[in-house]
Amino acid sequence: MYQADEKRYETMKYHRCGASGLMLPELSLGLWHNFGDTGVYENMKQMCFTAFDNGITHFDLANNYGPQPGSAEENFGKILREEFSAYRDELIVSTKAGYDMWPGPYGNWGSRKYLIASLDQSLKRLGLDYVDIFYHHRMDPETPLEETMEALAQIVRSGKALYVGISNYDGETMKRAADILEELHCPFIINQNSYNIFNRTIEKNGLKQAAAERRKGIISFSPLAQGMLTDRYLNGIPKDSRVNTDGRFLHADQFSEERLNSIRSLNAIAAERGESLAQMALKWILRDGIVTSVLIGASRPQQILENLKVLDSASFSEEELKKIDECSLA
Ligand code: NDP
Repeated sequence: MYQADEKRYETMKYHRCGASGLMLPELSLGLWHNFGDTGVYENMKQMCFTAFDNGITHFDLANNYGPQPGSAEENFGKILREEFSAYRDELIVSTKAGYDMWPGPYGNWGSRKYLIASLDQSLKRLGLDYVDIFYHHRMDPETPLEETMEALAQIVRSGKALYVGISNYDGETMKRAADILEELHCPFIINQNSYNIFNRTIEKNGLKQAAAERRKGIISFSPLAQGMLTDRYLNGIPKDSRVNTDGRFLHADQFSEERLNSIRSLNAIAAERGESLAQMALKWILRDGIVTSVLIGASRPQQILENLKVLDSASFSEEELKKIDECSLA
């Protein structure tokens, strides 16, 4: 059985998640890709070991991560049972519901019926009594926000989650959700949104500012734009890259000449800083102290080690930030 590195807490930085008592590592690991049935179990294990040995205590899942939907939770459940059982109280495990999961009207969106049934299924797959954070995965324009939030509060009251979060919400809806959850005395502590040099939606839809004002955490997903903000695609599309191995959400046609030029220019700025593009891209997200944690994905342990270098990254000069904007906001 796996034995964690005794030095695992020596280098990681932990940041308070909003105004809550919970600290999250600066870097967290997401299991969206490479942990489903098409992944290699030994590789999954080695990625989890590399993460935890370096102080990455937070592992992020969702009901539908796979393929097949549910299989990432099953595989991580196996790792928890076979390797990590001694470390449960050192881990923050999150899962979500909100996207299409099972047929019919009760396996999608934001009804109380869906959220509660889905978390029960997730707990079975994970082999856990509770998750540390449970998220509503996306805004539901039809279900009353009160119903979805009351479901989250009920989940905490029933002991199936310690904290709740919301994902892919905008600033205004998040504020309404926060008001409802406050009235329900429900520990809403975190927002999970896409945020990276190429995707600045949360700066435009008010989420980033609202989270800071309300003292809620933010964990940014796809911080490397699924691998675009690394050296992966500088010389064409490698055979073993996400575009080729699991291109459900990242396609070759997203690499226009304009996008490639932008990646090359950003890579040059990173090189001037003596950093890799991945390292610089992760540091950029953390630059103003508002984001709690960057939620990376990986296809191999080496990428996690490379991304941990963000911990040693220098802060940015005004001039560097301006250059990054010029190269990315075409
Ligand atoms: P990233 O932007 O970090 O992309 C990860 C991919 O980039 C890896 O799988 C790998 O791809 C490549 N990569 C990572 N590090 C390096 C490196 N150092 N050098 C070269 N290539 C690298 O994040 P993801 O898009 O994977 O998302 C991360 C997590 O965010 C998910 O697992 C999930 O937990 C969460 N998420 C949440 C969503 C939501 O709606 N709430 C939506 C999407 C994600 P390759 O295969 O090419 O090696």
